[in-house]
Amino acid sequence: MSTVHEGPAWRFPVIGGELSVGGQPLSLLAARVGRTPFFAYDRALLTQRVHDLRQALPGTISLHFAMKANPMPALVCHMAGLVDGIDVASGGELGVALDSGMDPHEISFAGPGKSEQELGQAVAAGVLVNAESMRELRLLADWQARLGRAARVAVRVNPDFELKSSGMKMGGGPKQFGIDVEQVPAALREIATLGLGFEGFHIFSGSQNLRADSICDAQTKTLALATRLAEHAPAPLKVLNLGGGFGIPYFPGEQALDLAPISANLERIAEQAASELPGAELVIELGRYLVGEAGVYVSRVVDRKVSRGEVFLVLDGGLHHQLAASGNFGQVIRKNYPVAIGNRMLSDQREQASAVGPLCTPLDLLADRMELAQAQPGDLVVVFQSGAYGLTASPSRFLSHPGAQEVLV
Ligand SMILES: *Cc1c(COP(=O)(O)O)cnc(C)c1O
Repeated sequence: MSTVHEGPAWRFPVIGGELSVGGQPLSLLAARVGRTPFFAYDRALLTQRVHDLRQALPGTISLHFAMKANPMPALVCHMAGLVDGIDVASGGELGVALDSGMDPHEISFAGPGKSEQELGQAVAAGVLVNAESMRELRLLADWQARLGRAARVAVRVNPDFELKSSGMKMGGGPKQFGIDVEQVPAALREIATLGLGFEGFHIFSGSQNLRADSICDAQTKTLALATRLAEHAPAPLKVLNLGGGFGIPYFPGEQALDLAPISANLERIAEQAASELPGAELVIELGRYLVGEAGVYVSRVVDRKVSRGEVFLVLDGGLHHQLAASGNFGQVIRKNYPVAIGNRMLSDQREQASAVGPLCTPLDLLADRMELAQAQPGDLVVVFQSGAYGLTASPSRFLSHPGAQEVLV
């Protein structure tokens, strides 16, 4: 067995020249799955990731999994055994989280535009609702009365600061997320009037951040803001969700997030919170950081073409399953995700090639003129960093090709 230290491939040992996932050489795994394309998630890597993160962070910080990053039921069940809570963003996700066996008390539900039915599901299940509007507060009060069961509510706050250098900003300025800071005191009065069970604040300001200093800055401001808002709260805070935003490196030149400064900062925050917000549990909620690097997307070379001197590997998979790797999921400039020919990991016959999907659009590009092992039809092309925002964040119906399988190994 040898390990190729090249991009994120090092996480997946090479066995007999083939990349392995969950200890299975890729061609054997492909045979086991029965067909390509498929996503494979490595159970041991998921476990290791949570373990490493817990080692790095203060023990006082609770760790939640934001399951929109990967809602595969088997994976959510696995994560449920590792983390302290699950954050869901729809009634559908709530169902999967409840099935996973996670204690409903440790499930929270965020997201704008929750329907009346979804809010009813949440109250019936006894999960915490991160309320995003006054309308949601009123509907929660209706359900509380109808079901005779206390509605648990936290206020999702749209802060007056941003998470700097984030891939996606989800707080600060005018946003559809949360209740603007300026309106939070009124929302807290409404919660008291309606007799809802107030538990705390949820302040999520952004996503995919690789800069520890920006994350620390946002977390420090979050605590200050929560402390200020707590003066208006109808009850002491039981929970302060500090958000997340921990990024993973997708592109050449990007460095993994440095956890040491974040840990030191969280240590300070925990100390300060213990005196200013005594009894409040501090939570961070992470999606891609927990699962993104543990997954690969595997498709097979269907055709090999040379067009005016350039090599094109035409695959049976593409943007309809892995939109983000094609550069069409919010990226400004298209860059290549890490890609390898999974059954030729040790080959020294390399060439420049593009890997394209079968869709009849030039957008269906998974590798743009990358240096890869020379590949032939039948070979298996692996896209790394595919454990988050893969299949469920892709337009599976576009061009009516078959869907992708998912396996947890
Ligand atoms: C999407 C989302 C997350 C997860 O973001 P990642 O970048 O995957 O960590 C966490 N919290 C909320 C409220 C979200 O909307």
